[in-house]
Amino acid sequence: MKWSWKIGRFSGIDLKIHATFAIIILWVIYNHIIAGDDLRTTVESLIFVLTIFTCVILHEFGHALTAKKYGIKTLDIILLPIGGVARLERMPEDPKQELWVTLAGPAVNVLIAFIIFLILFLTGSPIPLVNTDFFTDSFLANLMALNIILVVFNMLPAFPMDGGRVLRALLALRMEYAKSTKIASKIGKAMAILFGIIGLFSNPFLVFIAAFVWFGANQEEKMLKMKYSGKPYNPDNLIYTDLKTLSPNDPIAKAVNLTLSGSKQDFPVVALGRIVGVLRKDDLMDALSRGNINFLVKDVMRTDLK
Ligand SMILES: [Zn+2]
Repeated sequence: MKWSWKIGRFSGIDLKIHATFAIIILWVIYNHIIAGDDLRTTVESLIFVLTIFTCVILHEFGHALTAKKYGIKTLDIILLPIGGVARLERMPEDPKQELWVTLAGPAVNVLIAFIIFLILFLTGSPIPLVNTDFFTDSFLANLMALNIILVVFNMLPAFPMDGGRVLRALLALRMEYAKSTKIASKIGKAMAILFGIIGLFSNPFLVFIAAFVWFGANQEEKMLKMKYSGKPYNPDNLIYTDLKTLSPNDPIAKAVNLTLSGSKQDFPVVALGRIVGVLRKDDLMDALSRGNINFLVKDVMRTDLK
């Protein structure tokens, strides 16, 4: 990702920070200045924010290290103002593995919250929700509260956020992967609109998150479309299939048009519902380079199918 710098490397995974992360630091400072706070309060706030983001990084390592167990590498973990992103080389195809990889992130925050709970309990300090308000003056109590919020927020079914991925994996246990992705991204997009509207009236960061969820859901759908476009016919996959076919008597100009409109490179040639050959991109280019624009598909296609 452009505009991001490496700040460390753990367990073979680069940790990077994105330039826009500065926004959050400036935002915190700005809020304290307009509130007329002193330097000490401002610095304490900044330390708290950085500690929260450390919890976010640990959350992402939860995903990354669980993925590693299944032999999936993580390209890097990037810290953005809206949170962290672990860029896994791929998502596990087995829904059960996806479930574990996804749950491992929030599980880290549950663990952190639980450890803080134990510390507060053993030292006899006030505990959020139990015997105090959710937010207090205590650094540790607030950190516990924030980790709980992180878990709840991440587990909302806003695909591709964690909760949405859990939903997709659970759906995929009992139906087509493509279909479950479609359902999960529809719900994700609905949640994105909801976040966007709430964000407009409350917190501007929620609007960023809405955009992230919306584009993320779109991206996942697109990736799946690409993946399924080469697969054989299956009614469940049909919604994702964008397979263009040609007939032997089509002019090759038609294949050129399909290629220009962004279709895949090789075209199956179908006659009477059967595949009779393949028009390969190389062969198409070859015919064009020799000026044979009037050729028919059957003149150029390959029939030696394996
Ligand atoms: Zn996560």
